[in-house]
Amino acid sequence: MNPDLVVVGAGPAGCMAASLLAPDHQVCLLEDHAVSGEPVQCTGLVSDRVLRLAGTDCPVLNSIYGARLHFPGGGTISIRSQERKAAVIDRASFDRLLAEKAMDAGAEILYSNRYIDHSVSSQGVNLRYRQGDIRDMQTRLLVGADGQNSAVGRSLGNNGPKEWVRGLQVDLDVHGDRPDMVDIFAGNEVAPGFFAWSLPCGDFTRVGLCVSWEHGPPNIYLRRLLDSLQLSDAKVLRRHNGRIPLGGRPRSYGDRVLLIGDAAGQVKPVSGGGLQPGLSAARCLALTAREALENDRLDSKSLSVYERRWKKAVGKELRNGYRLRRVYVRLSDDKMDEAFHILNRDDVMGILQDGDIDHPSSLAPKMIRHLPSLLRFSPQLLGSLLRP
Ligand SMILES: Cc1cc2nc3c(=O)[nH]c(=O)nc-3n(C[C@H](O)[C@H](O)[C@H](O)COP(=O)(O)OP(=O)(O)OC[C@H]3O[C@@H](n4cnc5c(N)ncnc54)[C@H](O)[C@@H]3O)c2cc1C
Repeated sequence: MNPDLVVVGAGPAGCMAASLLAPDHQVCLLEDHAVSGEPVQCTGLVSDRVLRLAGTDCPVLNSIYGARLHFPGGGTISIRSQERKAAVIDRASFDRLLAEKAMDAGAEILYSNRYIDHSVSSQGVNLRYRQGDIRDMQTRLLVGADGQNSAVGRSLGNNGPKEWVRGLQVDLDVHGDRPDMVDIFAGNEVAPGFFAWSLPCGDFTRVGLCVSWEHGPPNIYLRRLLDSLQLSDAKVLRRHNGRIPLGGRPRSYGDRVLLIGDAAGQVKPVSGGGLQPGLSAARCLALTAREALENDRLDSKSLSVYERRWKKAVGKELRNGYRLRRVYVRLSDDKMDEAFHILNRDDVMGILQDGDIDHPSSLAPKMIRHLPSLLRFSPQLLGSLLRP
């Protein structure tokens, strides 16, 4: 078997890329797990845009119309919209459906097969993978869709993300007081370097958080959060953990190699959401791969157009979101509470209500123009968001 294209990783990004390319090319996906979608490493909060991009009939567990933002000093800002702002999906089903979509388009998925490494020559890519024993496969183009700890990404040299955050969440057999609002908790005692959440998911509530790498494992913070929410004794139905790469990776292409999704650092830095950027980038990858395979131009220079394309599609949010993150991680709890007092005004609600979870950083210039005193938190970084 010598497919035109091997995709390592049958997660959403890899399956979407495969389903777009499989009608015209022989595509093989290597997936180290035995099934798609397990273990879940996601909160499952997505925009309707993600559901449209996926083009599958994914079960929606709940609809979210707004958020309550909890500040360290006890202040709360409640933002609610008339329209659905996000859907809570069953992430395991989402991944399974995308894998079926790829197979329906003609891709072959080899489960329980782990990519080990590869070498590139002018003839093509020779990759080694483990299926019990170690085997070889030849292909023309290799796509690394192997997630946050991408081995294919590492093959491009010094290609790690700027940072990782560590996440941990539990599904609890409880119902909150607002079944259509997500609670977000900020504060250096609660979730240093990120935030915590309590998300109503229909039959259960998902409570979790991420913390910056240097703050160690998130368990202790989650225990503290559950205590403060008086949920320590609640029945735990499931537990998920995972890492999120933030700040992008230096390169998303090389000779006969393209990276996508978490493997390419395509994650929104403000929220840690990777589904929308990864699925959007799949179209850019499919276009580039199709041209490259048809013209037999698979060198790094020819493939560099992919990075320009995906950055045009989703790069602005990744760039500006990371600037906002740099401001956020430096805020003391007192500064966060200062921000609460600036933001807690009726005329701000209209701006916040327009927020789009796929473009959270686009709120920043609107807010700064409306409330210039926000610039004091970082004149340089926040000021840069005002430039076109
Ligand atoms: C706690 C947490 C909460 C999150 N919440 C959200 C959210 O609410 N909304 C959102 O949009 N995003 C969220 N994310 C991020 C989201 O889960 C990722 O961005 C998304 O899964 C990336 O998709 P992907 O296809 O790039 O990678 P993955 O989904 O990680 O898929 C990669 C696949 O590659 C396989 N693989 C890895 N190495 C190999 C190998 N060597 N050989 C073969 N196969 C391999 C893996 O088994 C996996 O199936 C969250 C992440 C975490 C950790």
